[in-house]
Amino acid sequence: MSDEILIGIIICDRYRACGGGKCLRALHNREGAFSIYKDKEVKLVGYTACGGCPGGNIEYAPEEMKKNGAKVIHLATGLVVGYPPCPRLTQFRDFIRTKYELEVVIGTHPIPQNYYKVHKKLGTWVRWDKIIQPTLTDEETRLLYD
Ligand code: SF4
Repeated sequence: MSDEILIGIIICDRYRACGGGKCLRALHNREGAFSIYKDKEVKLVGYTACGGCPGGNIEYAPEEMKKNGAKVIHLATGLVVGYPPCPRLTQFRDFIRTKYELEVVIGTHPIPQNYYKVHKKLGTWVRWDKIIQPTLTDEETRLLYD
């Protein structure tokens, strides 16, 4: 089906025990970074963690996802909202794009409002306007992800 897109998700290893509840809900509802798929069928063909700082699994996991047909890799919202946010986020994005020629989207589910409030106070995202854009959504939606 031409309107189907296959994706993989890579989460921050700090949340490696995460069951993926927020990501999968957002994927189902096409919220946050998944809103780009509003008119598409989406199949999740890979889900893993980065392997822990400095993110050794980033070197290999996208290859498996690509073999499963993934066209887009999502770096999960946890990399953006964790304390501190992942310092290698843009390196991961650039590496996956360059080595595997896959599209990379930063983020999965909407930023939870409680994380949003703390990072705004901290000024964490001062130069991250573009980075947080796909998961910023609006307050009403962010509250649903607390
Ligand atoms: S901060 Fe970055 S490198 Fe460290 S565990 Fe999280 S995603 Fe991996």
